[in-house]
Amino acid sequence: MVDHGPRTGAKVALTFDADMTDGMLASLRAGRVKSYANLRILDLLEREQVPATFFLTGKWVQRYPDVTRRIAGNPRFELANHTYGHAAFTADCYDLPRLPVDELTGDVAKTFEVIAPYGGRQTRYFRFPGLCHDAAALDALAPLGVTVVDGDVVSGDPFATAWRPLVRAVLDHVRPGSIVIMHVTEANAAMTDEALPHILAGLRERGLVPAPLSEVLAGG
Ligand SMILES: [Zn+2]
Repeated sequence: MVDHGPRTGAKVALTFDADMTDGMLASLRAGRVKSYANLRILDLLEREQVPATFFLTGKWVQRYPDVTRRIAGNPRFELANHTYGHAAFTADCYDLPRLPVDELTGDVAKTFEVIAPYGGRQTRYFRFPGLCHDAAALDALAPLGVTVVDGDVVSGDPFATAWRPLVRAVLDHVRPGSIVIMHVTEANAAMTDEALPHILAGLRERGLVPAPLSEVLAGG
């Protein structure tokens, strides 16, 4: 399990979670929500040639195959696993419904199977929904050969109503080797794309350079 890379050098990992639950799918179908895929984030990262790592749920990939293809097609982006339907892997994980313990391994394996056909920079990185985990959850992952990735810089972007606090949360805590947690889920993280240019500028001022997660963990 890792929450940051070596504290040497200048690299930091920008990571974006792509949550998708059945409730979110229902909101899309009912038209209550326009999108859980923030294309402005992709536009910016592509335009500025910024590396990033995307923790994808299987249901998000199935809802947004074109966006997934776009992510997989970018040599600066890595793809990682954020479960199939963003259910909790422990009790008392925010208000997420809980997966039975005997379904945890299969859930994560299925998600890799959903992501794999897209190619690109596939990884065995995995992030728990809500970062919630216990010994049973970690045991369930053991057969899969994954690296569990938390992060040491939490942007706090879910349900944010202003972008400045996100910029401050990131820039106040980011250091060499940091893993920054953000979301690409638009309707549930509506300020992230507004914060991102300021975050990138702040990283530049601090001499920090975004890199794919694998390169951050490798150090240098
Ligand atoms: Zn999540």
